Amino acid sequence: MPGDRCPTGVGPIDQLLGGGLETDGLTELYGEGGSGKTLVCLQAATRLALADRWVCYIDTEGVSVDRLEAIAQGHIEQVLKRVLLATPKSLAEQTKAVSTACALARDGRRPVGLVVLDSATFYYRLTLSGDSEDDGRQALGRELAELVATAIGSHLPVVFTNQVWRNQRTGELEPLGGSFVNHAAKTIVRLDKLTGGRRRAVLMKHRSLGESSAEFRITGSGLE
Ligand code: ATP
Ligand code: MG
Repeated sequence: MPGDRCPTGVGPIDQLLGGGLETDGLTELYGEGGSGKTLVCLQAATRLALADRWVCYIDTEGVSVDRLEAIAQGHIEQVLKRVLLATPKSLAEQTKAVSTACALARDGRRPVGLVVLDSATFYYRLTLSGDSEDDGRQALGRELAELVATAIGSHLPVVFTNQVWRNQRTGELEPLGGSFVNHAAKTIVRLDKLTGGRRRAVLMKHRSLGESSAEFRITGSGLE
């Protein structure tokens, strides 16, 4: 039912989210490079795969199997059997990969438990300084709309990651894409880098929980 939670397996983040990723909507993770966005996605994918659910993982950044292996800790073969990995090389390929993931989720022959788009804005960012900015915005908007429809229609958690830019006026790091991206996300979590392996997750938007934060730590085998 709407409002169900899907734990990521990262305890502090699950607590922050009231139990885990909400189904029936998109969760956005944004933060600077190295803040842990990909690690949280990999951890959630591993958890779902080990629970025998299929995961559609769209990876624009070239996640190495080594990183998944470190998190899966001896269960990598089982994880790889359940993770359907797409590695688009352009925004057009990313759009196709999103459509394929949504079709697989709707089809229902494989019980898809999670869709990940990491990062949603890597290729989009490349369009920002040129003539194709409007095309990039439209493509990303269509992708997010399709993901929202799939999350609702298939009662599924969907996670996407977003990169940041420095707002010179406020000095703050802000997620790319502005309001149309943030409107698509039902839940938004900002990840901050603290010293060493420490990271902070801040709940920026949630339909039932107020702003709060939690800390976690990056270790050799992922997050704790
Ligand atoms: P980006 O915006 O660059 O994609 P991210 O927010 O996805 O960054 P992660 O890739 O999750 O960040 O990295 C979080 C931390 O994990 C890094 O600070 C680093 O300590 C560690 N890390 C990154 N790449 C690896 C790797 N290949 N193997 C082990 N640890 C890594
Ligand atoms: Mg990443």
